[in-house]
Amino acid sequence: MEYVDIDHVDIVTTHLCNKHCKFCIDKFIGTSNEFISLDNIEKFLKLIREYTDKKLEVLLLGGEPTCLPTDLLKDIAELAHKYNFLIMMSTNGILKKKIIDLIPYYDSIQVTVNSDEEIDYYRKWQDKINIKLAGDNTLTMEKLDHFIEYTKGFDRRSISMYFTPDFIELCNDSDVWKLLDSLEWKRNGSYLYTFYEGVRIKKCIHGLTNIIDEETVPKLYPNGNYNKTWNDEKLDDYLSINGKTWTNEKNLVLKKNKKRTNV
Ligand code: SF4
Repeated sequence: MEYVDIDHVDIVTTHLCNKHCKFCIDKFIGTSNEFISLDNIEKFLKLIREYTDKKLEVLLLGGEPTCLPTDLLKDIAELAHKYNFLIMMSTNGILKKKIIDLIPYYDSIQVTVNSDEEIDYYRKWQDKINIKLAGDNTLTMEKLDHFIEYTKGFDRRSISMYFTPDFIELCNDSDVWKLLDSLEWKRNGSYLYTFYEGVRIKKCIHGLTNIIDEETVPKLYPNGNYNKTWNDEKLDDYLSINGKTWTNEKNLVLKKNKKRTNV
């Protein structure tokens, strides 16, 4: 049996979203109206605690997490803290007022911004807001340089390089890729990441990134199921949606009821 360390925990809160991106990162977007329940989150976090005491980050994503009621999002943060996790959220940034209301309850909120005005809007909370630039077809070297300069002072800054389902990167500025190709990248689950001028940059691994089972990232879905690369429970019916078949080629699982001490 091969064991893996947990990098962080993903909670897919919903498959609803208030935006319609052409190349959505959620394979199941719009397939259900469900919101994740507190009960299912609690069961999942307790399960994680059977394996590790490490203070891991729990990242809420979707769909769009801010589609959930504010009270539910506050309760989720409280629950995560109760089990000694850090609580983070990744949002498209549309519902600004809701994001501001949630800041006191969250350790970090990653917000995608589209203008200097939006960056200025969040500057007051630069210790809590992870300011994010989309690495899509609008990204140029000039825009990247400006983002790095203009967001100085924020504790966390990031750029995600977007791609199509066929792994074609949307950014087509050759200077950006010349820079990215010169950097040293590390692997995290099915993504690569690096830092440039203090900004974390993420990009896909061709052929791997769309695999929703990342053995280092346990993922809980809105219906309470979770990815079985991480565990051997036969609960993940999300993998059969749209007739897709999942195979566990690596057979990487964590052994149940054996808490690891070195993670
Ligand atoms: S904001 Fe995110 S979840 Fe919503 S449509 Fe765009 S990529 Fe998908």
